[in-house]
Amino acid sequence: MIKRKNETSILIIYTGGTIGMVHDPKNGSLVPIDFKHITNHVPELDKFGFDLQSITFNPVKDSSNIDPSMWINMAETIEKNYIRFDGFVVLHGTDTMAYSASALSFMLENLAKPVIFTGSQLPIGLLRTDGRENLLTAIEIAAAKEKGTALVPEVCIYFDNELTRGNRTTKYSAEHFDAFNSPNYPPLAEVGLHLKYNFSDIHYPPKNKKLIVNKSFDTNVAILKLFPGINRNFVEAVINTKGLKGLIIETFGSGNAPTTKWFIDDLKEFIAEGGIIYNVTQCHGGSVEMGLYETSRQLLTAGVVSGKDITSEASVTKLMHLLGKHKSKKNVIKFLSTPLAGEIS
Ligand code: ASP
Repeated sequence: MIKRKNETSILIIYTGGTIGMVHDPKNGSLVPIDFKHITNHVPELDKFGFDLQSITFNPVKDSSNIDPSMWINMAETIEKNYIRFDGFVVLHGTDTMAYSASALSFMLENLAKPVIFTGSQLPIGLLRTDGRENLLTAIEIAAAKEKGTALVPEVCIYFDNELTRGNRTTKYSAEHFDAFNSPNYPPLAEVGLHLKYNFSDIHYPPKNKKLIVNKSFDTNVAILKLFPGINRNFVEAVINTKGLKGLIIETFGSGNAPTTKWFIDDLKEFIAEGGIIYNVTQCHGGSVEMGLYETSRQLLTAGVVSGKDITSEASVTKLMHLLGKHKSKKNVIKFLSTPLAGEIS
């Protein structure tokens, strides 16, 4: 791979997902194929005049099968090729794209180049596919520079005419082309006739800082979604999970939960035994504000940590990342409350 001077170079990392899928003639279900399928269907790729290279994961995966080892794989691929390329486009299934984009945002410290995740709702081989536009524009964004500086040096998701910060984004439609949104942070770019970047909302890292890649995750975490009538045996089964270190409680509204004594006592006991509880709202938009209501004040006094306006996807990947990186509970709690990559306001 020799790069000509001044030539823009983009690395496309194909991990799997609908964008590269075809119908299996045997049973009609969607199965992944290799990356060549994508270039066959998007001859326009050549017109960019960029140095476009690709790496296909082996095997490619439906994103429901993605796990932290794949995040490490993605981050290491970027790390190995960081100097050589101007930007990276990660092709990924939509189902867990927001988790992977969040995880990579925490892994790639001091990132100064674009890492743009995209995929599609319809396979790229179909006439009405959304994959072609998503891929072409993701490449254009990954390549965008001014005076040698990347316009969007962040881990982002580009989908259906909108570029959003990866760790602020959530998949909300299994059907529409407009499948993602970022409820608590404005889009970083909007695409119509022109590509309009919202420069004041894009994060630019300090200059000349070396890329650091954090590769440890601790998966001893759980999410407990609250609902009216939640059963004590169920709550205690989750809390007593062997090895559990971090529990995310998905609470009501601005971080509220039942005030039932057994529930609060269970949470207190888990915290007293060294566990961490992170309060994330099950509302699509808005923020946890513990203490606003009586039903959240008790969580605050019990030592539950506020997730503020974090998405569920960013909360679980952030907790795994912090538990993997820091030995002390005090540090994990401190960094849970601190924006690491713009994931909380
Ligand atoms: N199940 C697929 C995946 O997430 C759906 C998609 O690509 O959109 O890998």
